[in-house]
Amino acid sequence: IIGLRGVRKTFPGGVLALDGVDLHVRQDEVLVIIGPSGSGKSTLLRCINGLEEIDAGEVTVDGLVLSERTRDAIRREVGMVFQSFNLFPHLTAVGNIMLAPRLVRRWSRRQTDEEAARLLDRVGLSGLGGRYPHQLSGGQQQRVAIARALAMRPRIMLFDEATSALDPEMIGEVLEVMKELALEGMSMVVVTHEMGFAREVGDRIALMDAGRIVEQALPESFFEDPRHERTRAFLSQIL
Ligand code: ATP
Ligand code: MG
Repeated sequence: IIGLRGVRKTFPGGVLALDGVDLHVRQDEVLVIIGPSGSGKSTLLRCINGLEEIDAGEVTVDGLVLSERTRDAIRREVGMVFQSFNLFPHLTAVGNIMLAPRLVRRWSRRQTDEEAARLLDRVGLSGLGGRYPHQLSGGQQQRVAIARALAMRPRIMLFDEATSALDPEMIGEVLEVMKELALEGMSMVVVTHEMGFAREVGDRIALMDAGRIVEQALPESFFEDPRHERTRAFLSQIL
């Protein structure tokens, strides 16, 4: 459902953030990406939904080659959740969740209220739709952000260190929502430091280093029997 071929991305100043990335994600698959800071993980996600323009190569999402012409259509297929929740502070949880559908789909108030209730239930926040972001914990805010991404009914979800800004006691509740999405068959690319989640939920693990995918494998062989010295070194640092 996602295909990258020879994707290169250089930032002004000459930083080569992606150095020829080839990557494929099948429908229903959960790909977990790990790797050191600055290795290009966020840039890779941002290239998948057209937030960054690439210098060379090709990105295909759900059968469409990413271009200026297809970018809006692709963005509707791809939901993204960031480390910082970026909720609108002056909107309630429901207001945040239904903002895009209201604008894009021109749904009625009743339709959006029903849909918002369904989404809130799905992320375990039934009854909290009237709260503003500052009245919610970090974990609750991040679950609102997930519901907001789901409101456009994406076929693919990208998570960029979605739990990295959370207090430890709130990480589990967000990972749980992500795991349920995976079990429901959502295609996902997840950048995370949570190795327990990677192992349990990931269908495949990829290690990025210096703008390249160094190794990708099924979780068991990735963690038990990594092929590359770079992977072994990285795992020994974090495990
Ligand atoms: P982290 O684990 O710290 O989030 P990352 O793997 O997500 O790191 P990226 O954010 O993708 O790494 O960055 C890859 C490289 O590109 C880094 O060298 C970074 O400094 C550079 N970079 C990222 N965004 C920009 C930008 N907007 N302008 C210039 N350089 C950038
Ligand atoms: Mg990053």
